[in-house]
Parts: sequence; C-alpha cells; structure tokens
Amino acid sequence: MLKIKFETLKHEQKIKIDETLNWKEIEFEGGVYPYFAPVKVDLNVEFSLGKVYVQGSVKTQIIHPCDRCLEPVKLDINGDVEAVYVPNEKVKEVEEVIDEIGTFYYDPYMEFLDLTDRVVEAIILEIPMKVLCKPDCKGLCPHCGINLNEHPDHVCDQDNDKTESPFYILKKISFESKGE
Ligand SMILES: [Zn+2]
Ligand SMILES: [Zn+2]
Repeated sequence: MLKIKFETLKHEQKIKIDETLNWKEIEFEGGVYPYFAPVKVDLNVEFSLGKVYVQGSVKTQIIHPCDRCLEPVKLDINGDVEAVYVPNEKVKEVEEVIDEIGTFYYDPYMEFLDLTDRVVEAIILEIPMKVLCKPDCKGLCPHCGINLNEHPDHVCDQDNDKTESPFYILKKISFESKGE
C-alpha cells in the first residue's frame, strides 16, 4: 500500500514503506508497457512542521520495444523519489506546485496521502529517450520490414521500383543540388 494515513504519520512522524507491488503495466507517452519484474518500493516518509518529506527508491524492470527493430527490450529501472508536500487549504487533495519539480500542495484535511503517482513518475523518468536492443541494432528493412539483425545479408526484392522510395528522392535532390 502506497497510501499513508495522515493520522498515523502525524503520530509516528516517520514511516518507512517497504513494498513489493505486482503491477501489470505502465502507460507512458501513449504506449502501454508491461512490467517484467515486481515494483520494489523503498520510501522514507517524514512529517515535520506540517510538511511531508518523501525520499527513496523504486526498482523494477519493464519491457519496451527497441526503437529501431521493435524487438522487446528488458529495461532495468532504478528510480529515485524525492518529494515535499506543503499544506495548503485551497487545494483539493494534491496539486503540483508550478515551476517547482517535486513540490506539491496538499489539503491538510485529507485523510490519506497516496504516493502511487510519485512511484510511477520515478519509473517513467528512468525510461531512456531512445531504447535500443543493442547499441548497433540494424533495425528493419525500410522496404519490407524484415529484421536486419537476423538477416544481415538481406537484399530487398521489394526495392525494384527505386523511384518510389522516399530515400531515393532525397538522395536525388541532394545530388542534383550539389551538382550546381
Ligand atoms: Zn533493435
Ligand atoms: Zn527488405
């Protein structure tokens, strides 16, 4: 459970969350990616002078397709959570403070503080901009889509009509302009 009861937090001042969650999939930039390993959450939550400080780590593995050849790639996720919650009677539940990453307002009359979003954010931040199955992935043949890692000597027979290839047109343009 990533939900903390405020009453407990105010009483204990410090709470340690050590959870292993069996989440199924994560949504990220319009895609849905399955988890390959349980999500291990290790958080220290501290209540001090009305503010709540959350700090810790998130470990898991997700499956993401290679950006070049679309083969599934196992990504190790070692994320960090760092958040401060400041009481503000004007907000409902929780609101991120504009221009202050990791700072949130919370409704001081709220019963529970849910840290799920912080854990999901920590995972998403760890997903690289470019996911490759290996640094030198050859990708897919642009004409027929065959995996060029598995068929390194592939000569495409669907490449007969060269004038239809956008690459051919590009080549032609740059060649012609160079000639002038
Ligand atoms: Zn690849
Ligand atoms: Zn091909």
